[in-house]
Parts: sequence; C-alpha cells; structure tokens
Amino acid sequence: MHLQKRVLVTGGAGFLGSHLCEHLLNEGCDVLCVDNFYTGTKQNIVHLLENPYFELLRHDITFPIYVEVDQIYNLACPASPIHYQNDPVQTTKVNVHGAINMLGLAKRLGARILQASTSEVYGDPTVHPQTEDYWGNVNCVGLRSCYDEGKRCAETLFFDYYRQHNLKIKVARIFNTYGPRMHPNDGRVVSNFILQALRGESITLYGKGDQTRSFCYVSDLVDGLVRLMNTGDEITGPVNLGNPREFSILELAQLILDLTGSKSKIRYEPLPQDDPRQRRPDITLANQILDWEPEISTEEGLGRTIDYFKGLLSEVSSSG
Ligand code: NAD
Ligand code: UDP
Repeated sequence: MHLQKRVLVTGGAGFLGSHLCEHLLNEGCDVLCVDNFYTGTKQNIVHLLENPYFELLRHDITFPIYVEVDQIYNLACPASPIHYQNDPVQTTKVNVHGAINMLGLAKRLGARILQASTSEVYGDPTVHPQTEDYWGNVNCVGLRSCYDEGKRCAETLFFDYYRQHNLKIKVARIFNTYGPRMHPNDGRVVSNFILQALRGESITLYGKGDQTRSFCYVSDLVDGLVRLMNTGDEITGPVNLGNPREFSILELAQLILDLTGSKSKIRYEPLPQDDPRQRRPDITLANQILDWEPEISTEEGLGRTIDYFKGLLSEVSSSG
C-alpha cells in the first residue's frame, strides 16, 4: 500500500516543473522528475536531490517509459519562442509523441494526467479576453506553429483518450508565467527586460510595444495546477490559468525600468512573425471550479524575479 501519492512530473527540471516538484514535495508527495535537460537544468532541482522522496530520471518522453505512479503532470516541452523554434520538428514530436506516451502510461496505470497546455492554442485571438470556449486563430504553417499546433494536437489526444478510454484528464491552458528560475537566455520578455535593465543595456522592444500580455507569478500558477489535478473526475478542463491584469509590452518595460531603477533606454526592433496582438485570460471558470485567483501582485512578483536575476549576475561576476 502506498501512503504517499506517487507523482510523475515530466519537464520537472524546467522553470515551472522545478517549482511544481518543490510544491508537491512540500505537500508530502513522492515525486519522480523526468527530464532530458533540453531546456531545463540540474541547477533548478539540485536543492531537491537530497530529499529521499525526490527521484530524478534523465529520459526523453518521445520514447515510452514504464514506471508506477498515481498522477502525471505533463510539462515536458520547450516553452519560449527561441527554444521551441530552435528545433521545431522536435517541438511537435515532444507535444504529440510525448503526449501519446504519457497518455498510454496513464491508461495502463489508471492514473490521473494533467496537460500543461497554453494560451497559444488561441493563436492571435479575435476574442478578448480569451474564454475556454473560443476555438482560436492559429496559423498552421508559421514559425510558431510547431508549438501552437503541437499543443492543440496534444489537447485533442487528451480528449480522445478521455472519450475513448475513459481516462482521468485535466487540461490547463497556461498564460505567460514568470518568476525565479526562468532561463536567462530564453528570450522571453520578462527575463530579457530584467537582465537588460540590470546590465544597463538597451531594452529590446519588438514592434511598437502596444501588443499586450498578462503575466502570472509562478507560485500562483503552480497552486492552480495542483488544485486542478485534485478536482473530481468529472472536471477535465480546459481551464485557463493566468493573471488577468493586462499590460502593453511598453508598460511592462517602463515598470521594470522603475522597479530596477535602471537608466537603460528602449530600442525598437521588428515584431517577430505571428506575434499575438493581445492576450488576457478570462479566469471565471478557474475561479468557479478551483476557487482560484492569483494572489501575487505584478510589482511583488517582478521584485522577487529581479532579486533572483541580481543573484545570478553576482554569481557570474564573482566566478569570472
Ligand atoms: P522550460 O523550457 O523551462 O521547461 C520545459 C522542460 O521540459 C525542460 O526542463 C526541458 O528540459 C524538458 N523537456 C523538453 N523536451 C523534453 C523531452 N523530450 N523529454 C523530457 N523532458 C523534456 O519551460 P516552462 O516555462 O517551465 O514550461 C513548462 C510547460 O508549461 C511547457 O509544456 C510549456 O509549454 C507550458 N507553458 C509554459 C508557459 C510559461 O509562461 N512558462 C506558458 C504556457 C505554457
Ligand atoms: N518581446 C519584446 N522584447 C523582447 C522579448 C519579447 O518586445 O526582448 C515581446 C514579444 O514580441 C511579445 C511579448 O514581448 O509580444 C511576449 O514575448 P514572449 O516571448 O515572452 O512570450 P509570447 O510571445 O510567447 O507570449
């Protein structure tokens, strides 16, 4: 008999995955982290290795895996545009083959399985804010398609396994999330702007900066994922998880300049292809079924993230 819940986290050495593993260990779970270190690092989870209830397995989920667990969180997939466009074929593979392998595992075990889906399934949305019943506006042959269509296909697979095999599925649509352990070179807007501001380099603003995003602090997001996993079997999602406070990217740049006290100047650069114009989650559903809403203000979350990157920069300067 297992007294502790045995939980598999794919992509557990990544940004979100490492915080999720930590949260689950604090809740008393027995955690198996599976990662091939494509974008994640051992550094993100090194502090967990001493814990006897934490196990790390280097494995690529595009290949099957045979383990025994009660719950599966499927997070393995590069998340930043630079990383997922680096090897787009692998990005589609991890989303599709990876989902099939994890769903097959859940089917054999009768385990619950949660998919880390994304607001990118809405593409460049024509409905604002985005509700879960919106089908999206996605280019299937663009530079972002490997990620967007890969994640859409993964959602399809989850719902077909649910209908065809009665699997206990949960689909979370995660909106832009930030916090400590974001990869410093992943090109995402929060990490880029903070590092540029701290180093006194120009802030690279793509387009006019009037495109919008809504930014959720990592601890709020992880709390939402765990709440969703532990809902009754009748709840499948998809459920939006994100912070509804919407910023233009120019406003975000100004806020980060204020919070860091930086004198960096803004440098305008071309907007990348298919960059969504606006994005804000409608979180009514998450609020109703999970009793969830973000608690950390953007100013507080950015403050903690700035402190994290300051720490990284001082490590680099003291080791160099
Ligand atoms: P991340 O790149 O930090 O983490 C992804 C992890 O998956 C890494 O540790 C990487 O090494 C691992 N991985 C990649 N391919 C793998 C493979 N084939 N086998 C095993 N492991 C593999 O990204 P993140 O921000 O932590 O995102 C985690 C998940 O959440 C992703 O599925 C992402 O699509 C989703 N998501 C994140 C955000 C966000 O803003 N961070 C938004 C929407 C969705
Ligand atoms: N962005 C920017 N400068 C940067 C990095 C990103 O202006 O140095 C913009 C980007 O064009 C997009 C927004 O910030 O409009 C969010 O980009 P990110 O890559 O973080 O996430 P995503 O586009 O996937 O939401």
